[in-house]
Amino acid sequence: MRGEPMTARWLALVAGVMMAAGVVAATANASTVIAHRGASGYLPEHTLVAFAYAYAQGADYLEPDIVITRDGQAIALHDLYLDAVSDVRERFADRAREDGLNYVVDFTLEEIRSLRLHERIEPETGEQRYPDRFPADLGHFRVVTLAELIELTQGLNISTGRTVGIYPELKAAAFHEAEGHDITAIVLEILERYGYRSAEDPCLIQSFEPEPLRRLREEFGTGLRLVQLLGENDWEMNHVDYEPMYTPDGLATIAGYADGIGPPLTRILEGVDAGGAPRLSTLVPDAHAAGLVVHPYTFRADDLPEGVSLEQLLELFVHHIGVDGLFIDHPDRLVRLLEAHRAR
Ligand code: CA
Repeated sequence: MRGEPMTARWLALVAGVMMAAGVVAATANASTVIAHRGASGYLPEHTLVAFAYAYAQGADYLEPDIVITRDGQAIALHDLYLDAVSDVRERFADRAREDGLNYVVDFTLEEIRSLRLHERIEPETGEQRYPDRFPADLGHFRVVTLAELIELTQGLNISTGRTVGIYPELKAAAFHEAEGHDITAIVLEILERYGYRSAEDPCLIQSFEPEPLRRLREEFGTGLRLVQLLGENDWEMNHVDYEPMYTPDGLATIAGYADGIGPPLTRILEGVDAGGAPRLSTLVPDAHAAGLVVHPYTFRADDLPEGVSLEQLLELFVHHIGVDGLFIDHPDRLVRLLEAHRAR
């Protein structure tokens, strides 16, 4: 999204175009607020306070990425390595692999628990990824296991009377398998232990790889809702060919083992035309036609197209395009927008 010239006029323009065309926006659908790595726009991602803060802000789902430790424990962390969000380099010498990174899978949970987690930085320069967020040199944060996050969520559900769900992402199943860990089986066992079993339970599982989702459905026979995340081939995060997945045929294939897709928002809002109006793909209607829900990622107040506010972007996606939910670092902003709509 960055670097694309956009003007503030585009949102009004698309609204006008859609109304003129007689397009009825899917405004009746309540959009699911998925707190991306907790309220990661305000507190270091994947920390217990970031999840509690997202809960308090009114999120519908708390989203952790899951990585497996050397001793087979499921923890909430985005990277396969610890270097960008912890003091691992100061605390442990000579544990890095050849690429200079300290991998979660090489450390026990007890070792990782001893680390201080902090706001995301670039490991080589120490610079914060998002400079206006929680300062990386402040705070005493620790890693959270998937089980601890579930207990926080379920405990708050009792004390508040709300029903907030969890939305774990299985990170790099092929990598974990090569390291001797079946992340799919590990995570499913924990979810089932805490009562998440059917499509009615407040839990969805996401993965960028189709294989673990197919296994969850076919081998493990889980009734939990599954979401196929879609990426770009040039990100080179795995060997999945994403391009065919964006086609109607590809979406039909996904619908054979999953309940939804999680595409990058740039695959829905592809850019801006010469007149300043947004160019929208047919991905959302195509996915809906295949029976899939659509939860795009990642909405951030501090990483926006030029000249567009977060509220304008949310308005476009929720009330004009009609996505079913979205991954957001600032859950309170979407909660407020939805409340304002309901109040009208
Ligand atoms: Ca994720």
